[in-house]
Amino acid sequence: MYIEVVLPVPLGNTFTYFVPPQMEAQIVSGCIVLVSFGRAKHYGLVSHIKQVPPEETIKIKPIISVESPQSVIIRPQLRFWEWIANYYLCSLGEVFKAVVPAGLRLESAQYTKKKETFVRLTSEYSNSDKLQEAFTKTKRSPKQEHLLLSFIQLLKQDKLKQGISKRELLDKSKASDSTLKGLLNKDILETYDEYISRLETYDKDIADANTLSPLQEDAYKQLMLSFREKDVSLLHGVTSSGKTEIYIHVIKEALKLNKQVLYLVPEISLSEQLTERLKKFFGDKLGVYHSGINNNERVEIWNNQLSDNAYQVILGVRSSIFLPYKDLGLIIVDEEHESSYKQQDPAPRYNARNAAIVLATMHGAKVILGSATPSVESYYNASKGKYGYIKLEKRFENTELPNITPVDVKELRRKKLMKSIFSPILIDKMKETLDNGEQVLLFQNRRGFAPLIQCKICDWTPKCSRCDISLNFHKKLNKLTCHYCGRTYNTPTECPDCGSLKLHSKGYGTEKIEEEVNLLFPDVSVERLDTDNAKKKQSISNILYRFASGKTKILVGTQMISKGLDFDNVGLVGIINADSLMNLSDFRAYERSYQLMSQVAGRAGRRKKQGEVILQTSNPEHPLIKAVLNHDYEAMYNMQIEERTLFRYPPLFRIIEITLKNRYENVLDTAATEFTLLLQNELGDRVIGPDKPIVAKVQNLYIRKILLKIEANASISTVREILTNAKKQFAEHPKYKYVTIQYDVDPN
Ligand code: ADP
Ligand code: ZN
Ligand code: ZN
Repeated sequence: MYIEVVLPVPLGNTFTYFVPPQMEAQIVSGCIVLVSFGRAKHYGLVSHIKQVPPEETIKIKPIISVESPQSVIIRPQLRFWEWIANYYLCSLGEVFKAVVPAGLRLESAQYTKKKETFVRLTSEYSNSDKLQEAFTKTKRSPKQEHLLLSFIQLLKQDKLKQGISKRELLDKSKASDSTLKGLLNKDILETYDEYISRLETYDKDIADANTLSPLQEDAYKQLMLSFREKDVSLLHGVTSSGKTEIYIHVIKEALKLNKQVLYLVPEISLSEQLTERLKKFFGDKLGVYHSGINNNERVEIWNNQLSDNAYQVILGVRSSIFLPYKDLGLIIVDEEHESSYKQQDPAPRYNARNAAIVLATMHGAKVILGSATPSVESYYNASKGKYGYIKLEKRFENTELPNITPVDVKELRRKKLMKSIFSPILIDKMKETLDNGEQVLLFQNRRGFAPLIQCKICDWTPKCSRCDISLNFHKKLNKLTCHYCGRTYNTPTECPDCGSLKLHSKGYGTEKIEEEVNLLFPDVSVERLDTDNAKKKQSISNILYRFASGKTKILVGTQMISKGLDFDNVGLVGIINADSLMNLSDFRAYERSYQLMSQVAGRAGRRKKQGEVILQTSNPEHPLIKAVLNHDYEAMYNMQIEERTLFRYPPLFRIIEITLKNRYENVLDTAATEFTLLLQNELGDRVIGPDKPIVAKVQNLYIRKILLKIEANASISTVREILTNAKKQFAEHPKYKYVTIQYDVDPN
C-alpha cells in the first residue's frame, strides 16, 4: 500500500510513502501517521491511499507508525484546504499546520484528558437498609451528618450507587475538605477519578426568540426570499437595528432542517455578552470557539465536531471555518467589514469572510454577510447583483441615529481654546452627560501614552534597534516599546546626542487621554480598553462588564470599543482625532475611517434615546467627514469606487502583495529588483515596485514590497503559476536562496 501524506512543511502538496503490510489495516484516509522527512520526523495526514506503486524512480520510504487509526477530518475539509492553499498561494502542509489543533498532529503537544474526582457511597453503605447505619455513625459530628445529608439530597432519583463530583459536593454543601475526610476515614464515602469533558454544559432555561419588529420581520422575509435565488446576501442594517435578532430567527430555521450553522464574529465581539445572549436561545446546541481556548479544549471541540454529538451552532472567530462540519446549512459573517477576518501571519494568509463563502458553496449552504458599514467589496458585489441585498435603515424602537457634531480643532488651536487635546465643547458635553447619569466613550486609535518622545534641544527621538521606527512611550510602565516587534527599552533620562535633560513626549495615545480625563474629572471612574491592558480575554470582559454595569463612567479605548458591543447607557461618544485615521497611506484608509467612526458613533444612545457624538478634526469640510456626519454610506462608497477604478484597486482589481525580507539590505535590493523584472516579463505593468515600505526594517530584517494589480476577471491560476515558478527559481538561486518571499493575496 502507498499513501499520499500532507506534511507541515512550506513546500509541495503531498508526499508519497510506503505502508508496511502489518500496518495496512490501520490506515484510513484522514488518519495521522509518523514519517521521516529529510532528517526530521513529522506527523502527517493521509490524503489518499493507492494500491499501485507510483512511477517515480526515487526511493519511497516506509512510514514509521500510525498515530491515530481514525480519520481526524471530515472528507470535504481536505477540498477546502486545497482551495485555501491554491488561492492564498501556500502549501497544503501550511494549511494543515495552521488549522489542525496541535494536540492532534504533534507529539510534543499530546492531548491530555481532563480528570475529575468523584465521591460515592462505599459498597457497604450504598443500599437503603444500610444508609441509616451510616447516619448513626455520624451522630457525634453534626458537620459530617450535614455533609452526608447534602450528598444524599444531591443524588438524582435516589440512585445510591451514583457518584457526584467532589467539587460540586463541597461547593453545594459548603462543607470543608476535612469534614469529607472524616466520612472517607469512616469508610462511608469513597473517592474515585473519572475522565470528563472540558466542554461546558448549559443548565438554565431556553428562551424563545424575541418577536421581530415589523421592519425586522420584513427584512427577515426578504432574506428568506433572497436565499431562493442567491447564495450570499448582504444584510446592511444600521447599528442597533437588530441584526443579531434576525440572525437568531434564521438560525432557528436552519436548525429545523437539521443543518449546522457557523456564526462568525471578529475576535473582540466574542465577548461574554454575545455568548450569553445566544446561549439563552440555543443552550447546549451552541459551541464557542475563540483564540483564548487552550490546546486541549481545541482538541475536544474538534473531536466533538467529528462525533454524533456535534454542536449544531458554532459561534467563533475566523479560525472556526476550519472545524469539521458534517452538514452546514448557513454561515453568518457578522461585522463582515472587519479587518480581523484576515489572517496576517503565518500562512495561510486567508480572509475568513471570503473563505467562508467558498466553504458554504462546498456544503450547499447560504451565507449572510451582516454590517452597518459593509466593506466596499461586499457592497460592490451586492450592487452588481452577485449578492442579495437587504437594508434596515431604522434602529430597533425607532431611536434616531446619533447626532454627530464636528469640531474644528485647527481653528480652536489657533484661538488657543483647546485644553490639551480636548475641545471646550467636548468637555462641556462630557460634564452634561455625566450629570445626566449617562456614560461616555472616548475613542483614540493609538495605544500607549505617546507615539514619540523627543529631545527639545536637538530633536533626537529614540528608535527601535531592530526596526526602522520610533518607539512608543508607555508611562505607567515607564518604558519605551516597539509596536512592530514588541521589544521594550528603558526610558532615557537624557538625550544621548546632546546630553540635554529636556525630553518631552509628543502626540496622544489612549494612556495619555486616560490620564488627562482623570485630571479633568477627578471624581469619576475612568477605565481604558486597548491591547496593552487587555492582553487576556478575562481582563477584556472585566473591563467591559464594569462599563456595562455602570460602575465605570468613562471608557477610553482604541478600535476595540467600536466592535459590536451593546451598551444601553452611553450618552456621548468622543472621537478625539479623526485626522490620524484618515491620514494613513493605504488605499483602504478612507473606507476604514468611515467604518470606524460610524461604528464607534453607533455605540451612542442605543435603546431609548438619541445619542451624541463629538468628532474632533482639523478638516471638517472633508467629504469623508461629511459622509460620516450624514450617515451617508453611499457617498463614501461612490467616492471610493471612483478612486479605486482610477488607481486599479479592489474590488475592480485583485491585489497580491509580495514581501521580500533579508538581513542584508544590498542583497535584498538587488533581489527585489530582479524579482520585479522576472514578474514584469510575464505580467507587464501589473507589477509595481519594488518599494521601500514606511517601516522598512522589522526585527533586523530589511523589507521590500512589490504589488501586483490583476484584473478582477483574469485567470488566477495563470498568475499562481507564474508566482510559484518565480519563487522556485529564487529558492534555487545561489545568491537569493536566503531571501524570504511571502505572498499575500487580497491583503488588508
Ligand atoms: P445590531 O446587531 O443590529 O447592532 P442588536 O441585535 O444587537 O442590533 O439589537 C440592539 C438592541 O436592541 C439589543 O439590545 C437587542 O436585544 C434589542 N432588540 C433588537 N431587536 C429586538 C426585538 N425584536 N425584540 C427585543 N429586543 C430587540
Ligand atoms: Zn538632544
Ligand atoms: Zn522593533
